[in-house]
Amino acid sequence: MPPSEAVFSPAPAPPAGAGTIAPVRAAVSGWGGGPRAPVMLARPADADALRAALDGHRGAIARGMGRSYGDAAQLAGGLVLDTTGMRTFELDREGGTVTAQAGVTLGELLGALVPAGWVLPVVPGTQHVTVGGAIASDIHGKNHGSAGTFGSHVQALGLLTSAGEVLELAPDRGSELFAATLGGMGLTGVILWARIALRAVAGALLRVDTDRVRDLDEALAALIAPGGPHRVAWLDLLGSASGRGIVTRAEHHGAGDAYAQAGARGGATVRSRATVPERWPAGLLRASTVRAFNELRYRRAPRRDRGHVQAFGAHMFPLDSLRAWPRLYGPEGLLQYQLVVPLGAEHVLGTVIGQLRRARVPCYLAVLKDFGPANQAPLSFPLEGWTLALDLPRAAPGVGELLQRFDTLVAGANGRVYLSKDARLAPDALAAMYPRLEHWRSVRDRADPERLWRSDLGLRTGLIRDER
Ligand SMILES: Cc1cc2nc3c(=O)[nH]c(=O)nc-3n(C[C@H](O)[C@H](O)[C@H](O)COP(=O)(O)OP(=O)(O)OC[C@H]3O[C@@H](n4cnc5c(N)ncnc54)[C@H](O)[C@@H]3O)c2cc1C
Repeated sequence: MPPSEAVFSPAPAPPAGAGTIAPVRAAVSGWGGGPRAPVMLARPADADALRAALDGHRGAIARGMGRSYGDAAQLAGGLVLDTTGMRTFELDREGGTVTAQAGVTLGELLGALVPAGWVLPVVPGTQHVTVGGAIASDIHGKNHGSAGTFGSHVQALGLLTSAGEVLELAPDRGSELFAATLGGMGLTGVILWARIALRAVAGALLRVDTDRVRDLDEALAALIAPGGPHRVAWLDLLGSASGRGIVTRAEHHGAGDAYAQAGARGGATVRSRATVPERWPAGLLRASTVRAFNELRYRRAPRRDRGHVQAFGAHMFPLDSLRAWPRLYGPEGLLQYQLVVPLGAEHVLGTVIGQLRRARVPCYLAVLKDFGPANQAPLSFPLEGWTLALDLPRAAPGVGELLQRFDTLVAGANGRVYLSKDARLAPDALAAMYPRLEHWRSVRDRADPERLWRSDLGLRTGLIRDER
């Protein structure tokens, strides 16, 4: 990594044995759980160890914290390169950038950067994702409308290619491969490090506006109402008035702010308070229980609240307070279906919600956000419009057929589903949703003619054509 002034050592210290680990047999799955893939798993500490781990393997994929929901970070019968051993980072205070190895998590970065007066411009709904994973999925936050994706703030990155070279890529240097790597789901190579532009902040406190909304139309209106840039709607899709919910708009407090001066406290990250035990029985999570919880959540929220002070971590990463929460869904796990449709195609959201209800597929968590314009990366998910993420039990009868119908609806409206959440999309649906797929494939194939980089997601969806 290029040198800079202030150096932060890895935070926290790597666990014992965190150095290079030669490939061992293992079984891995995505965050949504479900069937595990038998793989060879290596945990290299640097580029040389990565090259050594690859020796003799004809198929490999990088893995970060495994927070993608489906099969993006695994390759059945192949090599999985766990990057979490690569975890140092450096802050350039003058330049307002951080240069981080790919395995550092965003939570680790925030914990060091925010007290120093800087924040990552884009964070997802969990702090437990790596820099490599954030770039490979070109993740978005609640502020996509003003900040774009994570990749838009990457000034440069190091990529290990299938030929064993390390390329330094940037928006104006190797720009096609750079753009193909943003949202490229690890299929262009292994990201080793990245330099990310930061935003100055006075601290870890947010000022939050809240509105309780009665239906989807009110939610859409509240999401684009004046207010802070971090915008999100939680929707209750199990209650009687389908589509009711709670919308928040949040912004950072300024340095001279009265709240900050009053010494209000709050962290940039959250601690988990409990863990769902392994072997949590199937069937304990029921629509009736979640319906009652949703009712309580809705009733307890203020009808209209302005300027409430909340810590960044608690606001951005609420799910992180319960470790291993997907176990609540039982051994079969959950599917997350995240779609985006362009402005003007709002009717698709209503249709999806209505069809879920009619099919009696319970949705235990639904989150709606607005997106700003798309970027240049061919596989980047966001486009200007609305994104809806639905958490559904994988075991729910009829869920597979229902989601196939949604694919047709979404593609027909020029929308798409998010590959980082996907566990079931078929090749024809992928091609219908990502119009620049062929361009991405040609850039990728030039960089990796032997198709070393492959994943279960890549093979299942046809991102990678298995022609060798
Ligand atoms: C609770 C929760 C909330 C979330 N909220 C959001 C959200 O708001 N917005 C959003 O965009 N996403 C969100 N996500 C999804 C998450 O941000 C992405 O799936 C992210 O890619 C996960 O990072 P990871 O380190 O766990 O990567 P993994 O899941 O391990 O891998 C994801 C992809 O990145 C690739 N990859 C990982 N490391 C590297 C590397 N070093 N080089 C090349 N490729 C690599 C893998 O091959 C794989 O294709 C959420 C996930 C969870 C569990």
